[in-house]
Amino acid sequence: MIASDPFRRLVRLLEPYWWPQFAGALACMTLYSATSGMVPFLVRSLVDDIFEAGDRAMLDRLPLLIVVVFALRAALHFGQSYLTEYVGQRVVFDLRARLADKVGQLPLGYLDGAATSALVSRITSDVLLVRQALTDGMASMLRDGVTVVVLVVVTVVLDPVLAVIAFVVVPLVVLPLQRLSRRMRRLSLGGLDALGELSSLLQETVQGARVVKAFGMEDYERRRFGAENRRLLRLYLRAARIKAFTAPMTEVVAAVGIAGVLWYGGESVLSGSRSTGSFLAFLAALTLLYDPFKKLVRTNNVLQTGLGAADRVFALLDADGEARGGDEAPERLEQGIRFEDVTFAYGDEPVLGGVSFEIRAGETVALVGPSGAGKTTIADLIPRFYEPGGGSLLLDGRDVRTLDLASLRSRISVVTQQIFLFNDSVRNNIAYGHPDRDEAAIRAAAEAAHAAEFIDALPDGYDTNVGELGVQLSGGERQRIAIARALVKDAPILIFDEATSALDNESERLVQDAVARLVAGRTTLVIAHRLSTVTNADRIVVVDGGRVVASGTHDELLASSELYRRLSNEELSAAGGAPT
Ligand code: ADP
Repeated sequence: MIASDPFRRLVRLLEPYWWPQFAGALACMTLYSATSGMVPFLVRSLVDDIFEAGDRAMLDRLPLLIVVVFALRAALHFGQSYLTEYVGQRVVFDLRARLADKVGQLPLGYLDGAATSALVSRITSDVLLVRQALTDGMASMLRDGVTVVVLVVVTVVLDPVLAVIAFVVVPLVVLPLQRLSRRMRRLSLGGLDALGELSSLLQETVQGARVVKAFGMEDYERRRFGAENRRLLRLYLRAARIKAFTAPMTEVVAAVGIAGVLWYGGESVLSGSRSTGSFLAFLAALTLLYDPFKKLVRTNNVLQTGLGAADRVFALLDADGEARGGDEAPERLEQGIRFEDVTFAYGDEPVLGGVSFEIRAGETVALVGPSGAGKTTIADLIPRFYEPGGGSLLLDGRDVRTLDLASLRSRISVVTQQIFLFNDSVRNNIAYGHPDRDEAAIRAAAEAAHAAEFIDALPDGYDTNVGELGVQLSGGERQRIAIARALVKDAPILIFDEATSALDNESERLVQDAVARLVAGRTTLVIAHRLSTVTNADRIVVVDGGRVVASGTHDELLASSELYRRLSNEELSAAGGAPT
C-alpha cells in the first residue's frame, strides 16, 4: 500500500492497456463491489419488511432478485478476473521482451560483474513475481479496495454512530501494517538476491563438476551451498512470520470492533431505538467487509514482494547499454590499426598503462607476453568489447569510439580460444550471423577450414545438431568450425586468440593450414602461443604488465629482449604453448 517509484513505474507499464482492457476490468470490479453493497439492504428488507411487517409480495420478489444479482456478479467476476490477468500477462510479456533486448545490449563490463545465472534468474523469477503483483495484487487491491470503500459507505449510510464505533480500531491494523510492509519489501529483495546467489552456486557446481570431483571438493561445495541455503531459509521464514502475523492481527482487531458494535447496537435494539433489521443489516455489512479487508492486508504482502522484484527489474532496464551510432567503419583498411598510448582499467583496476603499437593494413602482428600481461584486453578493445579509458585506438586514423558499433564489428572476425558453438545445426553454426550465405559458400568455407571432411562424416552432415553431440567434437574440430565461421564472415580484420590446448600432430597441421588461409589478405592481430605462429608473423609485440616492452621480428627479439628469449624458450616452444 506504500506508493513508491517502482509502483509508479509499474502503473505506467499498464498505460498501453488502459483502454479498453484495464478500464473494462475496473468497471467490472466497481460494479461487482457495488452488488456487495446491496446485500445489507436485502437483509434489512428481509427482516423488517418480510418478517416484521409480513409483506408477502416482497417475499416473492426477494429470492428472484437474489438470483439476478448473483448471476450479474458471476458475469462481472469473470470479466474482472480475465481482463486483469490479460493486462498483467501483457505487461509481463513486454517486460520480458525489454529485458531480453537489454541483456543483448549490455556491455561486457556489466556482464563480467553480474553472475550470469543471477541475471537469468532476474528475467525469469523476478518477472514472475512482478506478474503476481500485477495480476493478483493489483486486481485484489482494486476489487477489494472498491468493495471496502462501498461497504464502508453503506455502513455509514445505515448507521453513522455504529460505523464510528466499528472503525475506530482500524488504525490499529493499518499503522503496524505500513511498518511491516517496508520490512516485507526489504526481505523480499534480500530473498531474491540470495536466490540468485544460490542458483549461481548450483550452476557452478554443475558446470564445474569435473573440477569439483577431481579435487574432492564435494564437501566444500555442499557446505557453501548449505550456508547460502540456510541464509535463504532464514529470510523466507522471517517473511513468513510477517505474513502469518498479519491475518491474525487483523482478526483480533476486527473482533474488538465487532464487540463494540454488538454491545452498543444490541443495547439500542433492546431499548427500541433501532430496528432489528437495520442492526442485522449493519452486522451483515461488517461481516461482508471483513473478507475483502483481510484480502487487502494479504495482498499487500504479494504487492511488496512484487515491488521488490520490480525494483531489480527496473535497475537492470536502467543499466546503460553499449553506445551505438556513429560513422560507418571503413570497408577495407588502407592504413591499419593504431594504438596510441591506450590505457584501460577493469573498474578500478588499471590493466593497460599506455599501450602503443601499430598493425599496418594486411599485416599480421603477434602479441606475446606472460599470462595476465593484458594481451586479451588489448585485443578486446578493437571491436569495442570494452571502451579504451585513455589514449586513442585508431582504425585508418579514425578513433573507434566515433564509429558505429555494428559496422565496426561487421569488419572484424573474432576467433577466441574457447569456441562457443550454439545448440543448432553445423551449417547454422558456420553461417552464424550470415543466414543469407548460400550452401556453396558455406561448403567452400568448410573446405578451406579443413572441416568439410569430418562434417560430411557426421550422421546428418551439415544438418547435424551440434548441441546433441557437443562434446563429441574434438578440440581441433571445434577450432576448424570456428575458422570456417570466420571465413564465411570474410571480414577485413581478424582477431585471433590462438588455442593453447595441445592437439595431435595431424590435427595441429590441419588447424595451422586453415589458420594460414584465414589470415591471408587480412589485417590480423593474433595472441600467439606457438612458435610457428610468431615466426610467420610480420611483427611481434611483447607485452608485460600492461605495457609494450619490445617489438620486432623473431630474430630481432631473440637478440634484444630477455623476456622474449625466456618466453620463446619456456612457453612458446612447448608443444601446447602456455596457458593464459
Ligand atoms: P592476458 O591475455 O595477457 O593473459 P588479460 O588481458 O586477460 O591478460 O588480463 C590482464 C589483467 O586484467 C589480468 O590481471 C586479469 O586478471 C585482469 N582481467 C582480465 N579480464 C578481466 C575482467 N573481465 N574483469 C576484471 N579483471 C580482468
